[in-house]
Amino acid sequence: MRILIVGGGMGGTILANSLARRLSSELKSGKARITMLSASEKHFYQPGLLYLAIGRMTPDELYRDQASLLEPGIEFQVDPVEEFMLDNNCVKTKSGKIIEYDVMVLATGSRMFPEGVPGLAENAEFFYTETSALKMFKRLQSFEGGKVVITVGVPHKCPMAPLEITFMLHDYFKDRGLSDKVKLHYTYPINRVHSLENVAKWAAPEMDHLGITYDTFFNIKEVDGKNQILRSEEGVDIKYDLLIAIPAHKGMEVIEKGGLGANGWVPTNRTKLNMEGRSNVFVCGDTTNIPISKAGSTAHFEADTLAENIAAMVKMGTPVREYDGKVFCFIEAGKDRATYAMFNYLNPPDPKAPTKAMHWFKIAYNKLYWISARGLL
Ligand SMILES: Cc1cc2nc3c(=O)[nH]c(=O)nc-3n(C[C@H](O)[C@H](O)[C@H](O)COP(=O)(O)OP(=O)(O)OC[C@H]3O[C@@H](n4cnc5c(N)ncnc54)[C@H](O)[C@@H]3O)c2cc1C
Repeated sequence: MRILIVGGGMGGTILANSLARRLSSELKSGKARITMLSASEKHFYQPGLLYLAIGRMTPDELYRDQASLLEPGIEFQVDPVEEFMLDNNCVKTKSGKIIEYDVMVLATGSRMFPEGVPGLAENAEFFYTETSALKMFKRLQSFEGGKVVITVGVPHKCPMAPLEITFMLHDYFKDRGLSDKVKLHYTYPINRVHSLENVAKWAAPEMDHLGITYDTFFNIKEVDGKNQILRSEEGVDIKYDLLIAIPAHKGMEVIEKGGLGANGWVPTNRTKLNMEGRSNVFVCGDTTNIPISKAGSTAHFEADTLAENIAAMVKMGTPVREYDGKVFCFIEAGKDRATYAMFNYLNPPDPKAPTKAMHWFKIAYNKLYWISARGLL
């Protein structure tokens, strides 16, 4: 069976490694073949961007050579897919190769899309790419006081990042002795401070306690950079001195333009993880349209399910299990406290009071991730 994995990020890598271990004898005998196509020779640990933006990680800590993370037997090529020909079970790559498959997994991730809101890209700081996170840190270093507005669009990857950056900024300015001069204000599109109800119930009192104010039902309409005003669809204007945005995301252009799914989100069966209408195309990670958190842990747990199922398809001709919607997210609550949210389709999260131990667990995980990417954790 020719297995093609498109995307060498969190989901694609964990899946490829787990499959290679499960299918080691089939790979040796030629009964199975695993090919990974990616857009980069580097593997990017995106959660580190949160720390880069406040000067607590450096860019080199966020990357490893992708080939060094992969099990032997996986054929890895840096040659992004430019066209999907699903009816013919093949893809066309940037270098012009046609690659055929029996089973394909789409794991191309997502990207922030600030261009969707007039004035946002030009006037806000971001931390969802290396370049923008570095720029944001330099802006923070020169900021001496005023109103900092953290504004959120949906959907976006990492459900907790907007809350985490808000709490981390609180501590960042406190450490610089600017607490009295900086006012933090947060906006969120629905009628509470987070999409997950229990996370919102936990976070709102934390914000109240720290003196962080917020507007809910605030859907970003436009940014007037000249007058430093953030406007909502609901008719609310907020004056800012520094605007930090987590913009709404889209899937990758190749998915969107190829007609695989509106806005780059592939219609995906929530338990079987196959692309709707296709029994040999599966979807992993951010690029699904499943209405759950777009997080590395989601990609990880989906990859676990897919590895077991695709290996079983090779060995027994049928998948064996279903994805239950499991997600686990750390929530940094400042520079030395954190909590977590663990949930699935049936059980909502129930964040506990933040502790130092959980914060140090997250800091340790930033290093342990490289073991996790290899599918060993
Ligand atoms: C600031 C920030 C903080 C975060 N914090 C957390 C956190 O604390 N916990 C957590 O669980 N998640 C966190 N995340 C989210 C997490 O990083 C993503 O949800 C996760 O990386 C998604 O995995 P993925 O495999 O779907 O996509 P990605 O990891 O983005 O990988 C996509 C891969 O596809 C490749 N690709 C793209 N286009 C093509 C193409 N045309 N052909 C072939 N390959 C292609 C790319 O090169 C890349 O290798 C955070 C993200 C950010 C930005």
